[in-house]
Amino acid sequence: MNKSIQLVDKLYKFHSLTLEEYQYLLDNRSSEIALYLRKKADKVRREYYGNKIFIRGLIEISNVCKNDCLYCGIRGGNVNCERYRLSEKNILSCCENGYELGFRTFVLQGGEDGFYTDSFLCSLLKKIKAKYPDCAVTLSLGERSYESYKKLFSAGADRYLLRHEAASEELYKKLHPENMSYRNRIKCLYDLKEIGYQVGCGFMVGAPFQTTKHIAEDLKFIEGFKPDMCGIGPFIPHKDTVFKNEKAGSVEFTCFLLSIIRLIHPPVLLPATTALGTISENGREEGILSGANVVMPNLSPTDAREKYSLYDNKLSTGLENASNKKELEERFKNIGFEIVTDKGDVKK
Ligand code: SAH
Repeated sequence: MNKSIQLVDKLYKFHSLTLEEYQYLLDNRSSEIALYLRKKADKVRREYYGNKIFIRGLIEISNVCKNDCLYCGIRGGNVNCERYRLSEKNILSCCENGYELGFRTFVLQGGEDGFYTDSFLCSLLKKIKAKYPDCAVTLSLGERSYESYKKLFSAGADRYLLRHEAASEELYKKLHPENMSYRNRIKCLYDLKEIGYQVGCGFMVGAPFQTTKHIAEDLKFIEGFKPDMCGIGPFIPHKDTVFKNEKAGSVEFTCFLLSIIRLIHPPVLLPATTALGTISENGREEGILSGANVVMPNLSPTDAREKYSLYDNKLSTGLENASNKKELEERFKNIGFEIVTDKGDVKK
C-alpha cells in the first residue's frame, strides 16, 4: 500500500515511472489506491480543463475493412458482417445534424476501406471546413501513407486517432494477422505527429494474452510519445471472431489506467469511450471521475450504427446517441461536470 502511494506521488510529480514501477502499481491495485490515484488525476485534469467535458460527434463512415484484426467484429474476413459505406452527402448531413446539436468536432471513423481515396476525402474535408470553419475534423481511418496523411492534413483534417493497440510487438502479433505490421503502425503515429496533426494513440484493456507487463509497456510508450489524445477502453468479445469466448476487460482496470495516463501526460485529451459505457451503465461517469475529459456520442445514421459492430452489444442508443445530448448533460451535471460547445483542442 505504502509503496503504491509513493509511486502515485512520484508519477504525479515527475510524470514518469520505470517499467517495473508501472507493473508494480498495476499488480498491486486496490480500491484505496484507485481512489488515491483518481483524486490526483482529478486535480491535474482540473488544472488544465476545469470541469469542462468536450464532446465529439462520431460518424462511422464505413465498416468495409481490408484488415483482419483478430478482435474486431468488422474485420474483413467476417462474412456475417453486413457492409455499408456512407456517401459524401450522408456524411455532410451527419455533420449538419451534429452542428445543430452543438458538436464542434466531427470524428470520421471507419475500417480501412479503399473506397475512401485521398481525392474523395480531401474534397469532403474541404466542404466540411468551408461550411463549419469553427469545427475540428478528426480522422480515424487506419494506416495510410505519409503522403496521404499529408494531403488530408492540407485539406483541413486537424486530428488523427490511430490506437497503437499494443506497444509490445509480441502482443501486437498475437492480436493481428501476420500481414499486419507493428512497425508500420508506430511509424504512422510518428508520421502523423511530424505532419502536424493532434494525434491519438491507445489500446484495449483486458485484451486476450495481455499481461500487466504489456500494459506497463503501453504506459512507457505513452510517456515517450506524448499523444494529444489517448483512447483506451475495455476489450469486449465479438461473436464472429476467434476471441468470441474470451473475457471482457473491466471498468475498474480501465478507470485505473485512465487516471495513470492523466498523470503521465496532464494535457492529454482522454475519452471515456463507448466500450466503457457498454460494459457498465455508469461506465462513462466512472471514466470522467477517473480523469477523462472527452465523450464521443454517435452521430452516424441509425441503420449504419448496428452494422458498425466492433464488439457485441456495442451501444449506439441512450447516452451514446448524439441526439440525447441533454440527458448526457444532465448526467454529467450530477457529478459536477459541464459539457461545452467547443472545438476542444489540446492545451499545449
Ligand atoms: N480502422 C481504424 C478504426 C478502428 S476501430 C483503425 O485502424 O484505427 C477503433 C478501435 O476500436 C480500434 O482501434 C480498437 O482498439 C477498438 N476495438 C476493435 N475491436 C474491439 C473489441 N472487440 N473490443 C473493444 N475495442 C475494440
